[in-house]
Amino acid sequence: MRIGRKQVMLDTSWQDLANCLGVDPDLFFPERGASTREAKEVCRGCVVREHCLEYALANGEKFGIWGGMSERERRRIRRSRAVARQAAPVVVTETA
Ligand code: SF4
Repeated sequence: MRIGRKQVMLDTSWQDLANCLGVDPDLFFPERGASTREAKEVCRGCVVREHCLEYALANGEKFGIWGGMSERERRRIRRSRAVARQAAPVVVTETA
């Protein structure tokens, strides 16, 4: 997905290899309740899918299909990562 506003993750060079270059952006921002199947089909073979998904997660993208996932699917990933972070042990190192 092309970026139009200031984002947290600045390296967007991966977008040059996106499968969705030249594809109607509306396909990736369907109306509420509309099918996301076609957009996800474009994403399925995209070589930068992981970059796209991580970009959307890092920037809290609320709308559209990114990395082949809807906002609801991305929200699940964010939640499970937050739970994993909370469960991770805290490592304290001493400095002299
Ligand atoms: S994963 Fe989908 S939305 Fe992301 S760059 Fe690839 S084709 Fe575009």
